Amino acid sequence: MHLDWILACSVCANTRAPDGLPTVCDLCGQPWLVRYQRPAPTVTARAEVRRGHGMWRFRPFLPLAEGEHPVTLGEGDTPLLHLRRSGARIGLPDLWLKDEGINPTGSFKARGLSAAVTRAVAAGATRFVIPTAGNAGVALSAYASRAGVKARVFAPRTTPRVILEQVRVFGGELELVDGHIGHAGRLAAAWAAAEGAYNVSTLREPYRIEGKKTLAFELAVQFGWTMPDAIIYPTGGGTGLIGMWKAFTELIDAGWVQGTPPRFYSVQASGCAPVVRAFEAGADHGEPWVDPVTVAAGLRVPEPLGDRLMLRALRESGGGAIAVSDEELTEAARDASSTEGVDVSPEGGAAFAAAGHLRRMGTLGPESRVVIFNTGAGWLYRA
Ligand SMILES: *Cc1c(COP(=O)(O)O)cnc(C)c1O
Repeated sequence: MHLDWILACSVCANTRAPDGLPTVCDLCGQPWLVRYQRPAPTVTARAEVRRGHGMWRFRPFLPLAEGEHPVTLGEGDTPLLHLRRSGARIGLPDLWLKDEGINPTGSFKARGLSAAVTRAVAAGATRFVIPTAGNAGVALSAYASRAGVKARVFAPRTTPRVILEQVRVFGGELELVDGHIGHAGRLAAAWAAAEGAYNVSTLREPYRIEGKKTLAFELAVQFGWTMPDAIIYPTGGGTGLIGMWKAFTELIDAGWVQGTPPRFYSVQASGCAPVVRAFEAGADHGEPWVDPVTVAAGLRVPEPLGDRLMLRALRESGGGAIAVSDEELTEAARDASSTEGVDVSPEGGAAFAAAGHLRRMGTLGPESRVVIFNTGAGWLYRA
């Protein structure tokens, strides 16, 4: 199978062939990013993509070789909803919601794990492991089952009960961990080394990012091949943010959209906000957040490996970073669900709350076309 891309280190100049089961850069330990070595997707391919279905219709920009079939559960094609009432209330008449909660497994983690499992299984992997704040473990369990391989999931004991239950439902081998995702990460790495399992922890392999790019591709299609002015994204490990940033750049390079990429705003919980703190300090990377606490499980990532890439995306796009309290994000999720009929997760609530803050601060003007993300379904968090 000819793979028409290489892996390029996101920090140093190192590159590598894409064969086998890649981890991180062997020189500096930073994440690899996929760099395609294929002819740029043509504008005629654009019409074809528009007619297709699911996230894999964006194949000209995805890591799939000629004739290969992805491991899929029908992820993607999620609705983009105009939030007329919520938007009017906060002074953003052009406010939109991408509802990722209706993906297979209930969150946008489906996109990344579909891509990662596809590539790893093609390279011969039969055992997977992942440390997770919750939803990535659910998605890995489902996609591993779909591919007929095994998944072991290391998750904090404090992860919402329904999410843990979903890992088991999809056949994942669940290991409960005392502590946060950082502790789970160390146990997962040790287990991977001992058992020869492939670790698909955020940015420890290069393909989850590629799956997350499809968030931006869908936005471009849904807005008629234009880009919004700003994106507000509830940020944990950063795959969505980094993926969309990469995707918009690739779309512009291919001539599929014109203009400059949207400004990216990262929203975190005030009980775990390493990216916000680093952004405000002008730093190029974050420091570990001690004692991370938030009900928004997906945001409880105290030491993301992708911090450098996230900070670069926020700054280069002219965006920013903001923290909201658990009270605010919980209240915003409840309010948004009853106002809009969307099952908003705590992480999605954080995005709603941040939109109001950014508007009141004057960072977003009334004319801005703004997209917020409901990254997961609210039912996963109910007791
Ligand atoms: C994982 C997760 C996040 C954080 O996403 P990243 O792409 O890792 O930053 C946000 N919301 C939910 C519901 C999640 O599961």
